[in-house]
Amino acid sequence: MISDVVRTRFAPSPTGFLHVGGARTALFNYLFAKRYYGKFVLRIEDTDLERSTKESEEQLLRTLKWLNLGWDEGPIVGGPYGPYRQSERLELYQNKAYELVQKGKAYESYIYPEEMEEIKNKLLSEGKPPHYTYELISRFNTQERVNEYKEKGLRPVIFLRMPQKEYKINDLIKGEVVFKKGAIGDFIILRSNGVPTYNFAVVVDDIAMKITHVIRGDDHLSNTLRQVAIYEAFSAEIPEFAHVSMILGPDGKKLSKRHGATSVEEFIKKGILPEALVNYLSLLGWSHPEGKEIMDIDEIISNFSLDRVSSSPAIFDEAKLKWMNGQYLRNKDIEEIYKLAEPFVIESNLLTEEEYEKDKKWVVKALETVITSIETLSEIPEAISIFLKDVTPNLNDEEFLIYFNKSGVREAIILFYEHTKRSDKWDTEVITENLKKAMKEANPQKKSFYMALRKILTDSFHGPDLVNTIYLIGRERILQRLERVIHI
Ligand code: GLU
Repeated sequence: MISDVVRTRFAPSPTGFLHVGGARTALFNYLFAKRYYGKFVLRIEDTDLERSTKESEEQLLRTLKWLNLGWDEGPIVGGPYGPYRQSERLELYQNKAYELVQKGKAYESYIYPEEMEEIKNKLLSEGKPPHYTYELISRFNTQERVNEYKEKGLRPVIFLRMPQKEYKINDLIKGEVVFKKGAIGDFIILRSNGVPTYNFAVVVDDIAMKITHVIRGDDHLSNTLRQVAIYEAFSAEIPEFAHVSMILGPDGKKLSKRHGATSVEEFIKKGILPEALVNYLSLLGWSHPEGKEIMDIDEIISNFSLDRVSSSPAIFDEAKLKWMNGQYLRNKDIEEIYKLAEPFVIESNLLTEEEYEKDKKWVVKALETVITSIETLSEIPEAISIFLKDVTPNLNDEEFLIYFNKSGVREAIILFYEHTKRSDKWDTEVITENLKKAMKEANPQKKSFYMALRKILTDSFHGPDLVNTIYLIGRERILQRLERVIHI
C-alpha cells in the first residue's frame, strides 16, 4: 500500500477557465477523499510555460473555493510534499530523470526535433509503426553533437526505454484495460530545456505526493500506458486509476462552447448557486443508491463510491441544472437571497447600492414575490423590474376590452381606485381589504376583474401575486395608472 490513507489529487493546468469537466473531476476527487477520510491534494500543472498564466491559476483557485472544494494540501495551504506547483519542482524532475538513466531505464539523447520527425516519417513510409528505439535515437549522440548542445546551453533530451510487452490496468470505472504489446515506442521524459513532459511530471509527483487514487477524465486513458511504464521504471507502486467518461452536450457530441455555457465562471455569472452546481455535477456520471437527486454535500459524500460511477458518457443538461438551482434558491431564507441577489441587481443598474440598502423592506418583498417564478439569480433584475418600470398599456387592446366590459368590472376598478385614494396606509392588508370591498360592492366576474386590473397596472395579463405587485408598484403610481382608465 502506498499509504494507508486515501490521497487523491486534482491537477489542473492553469491555461484558462475551469470547465464543467474539470470541475467534475475536482469534485469526484474531493468526494472520494472525503468519503474515506483521506486527503484531497491540489497540484498546479504549469509546465506548459507558454500557455500557463498566473491569472488562470488565481482564477482557478477562486473558482474551486467558490465551489467550496477546499484542498487539504496545495497552493496557499502548503503541505508535507510541496511545492505544489510543477514549475517549482523542475530540479526534482531532472534528478528523477537521471535516476532512471542511472538505472538503465532511460537514456540521454542529442537528437533535434526535426530529426525525430524524419525518423518517424521514414518508419511510416516503410509501413512500420513510428516507434523510437535506442538504436534509432542514439545515432545522434556524437561528440560533435554533444559540443553543439553545450554551446547552445541545451541539455540532452531524456528518453524512457519503453518495455515491449503487454500492460494491463484494472480501472475502477472502466474495468480491465489492456494496452497491447508494441503499442508505443520510447518517449521523451525530459526536454532539452530541462522541462519534463506531462506524463513524467505527473508520475514523479503522484509518487512523491503518495497519491493512492488517480481519478480523471478518460481523455487521459491513453497517457496511462506511458505513466504505468514510468512507475515501473521507478519500481514504484502503481496507484488505482479511475477514468471518468466524457461529458456530452444534449446532442450527444462532446460538450463545447457550441452548447452554451461550459465554464464554472459562466455559471457564476448566470446566477447558479455553488451548492446547486456541485449537486448537479455530482450526478454527471454518478448516482445515489436510491436515485435521490437533491442532496447536500454531506449526503453526497457519505453515499459516494466509484462503483456507482458509470462508464458511459454523461449528458450535460443546462435546463436541469437551472431547475435544480431553482430548488436550492427557494430553500434559502430571504435574508440570504437578499445578499446573493445584490450584485446582480446593482450590476443591472436597476437600483444603486444605496437604494438596495435603504429600501431593503421593499427589495425583500419584491424578492419574495418573484422567487417562485425564477431559477437563477441573474433572472432577478428583470423579474423585479416590472415593479419599477413605467408602463402605458394599450387600453384599446381587444383582450383587455373583453375583460373590462364585462359587467361590474369597470365599477369595481373605480371603487378600488376610490378606496385606495381614501386609505393612506399602504400595505398588503389594506390592498387586500380594498380589493375585497370593491368586489363585494360591484360584484364583477372575478377573473375578468383581475385580468383587466393587472393589464392596467402592469401592461400584462400574467405576473406574480397581484396584491404584492400592487404594493411594490407603490400607491402613487397605482393611483396614476387607475386614473388613466376611470375616464374611459
Ligand atoms: N494537467 C492535466 C490536465 O489538466 C491533469 C492530468 C491528470 O490528472 O493526470 O488535464
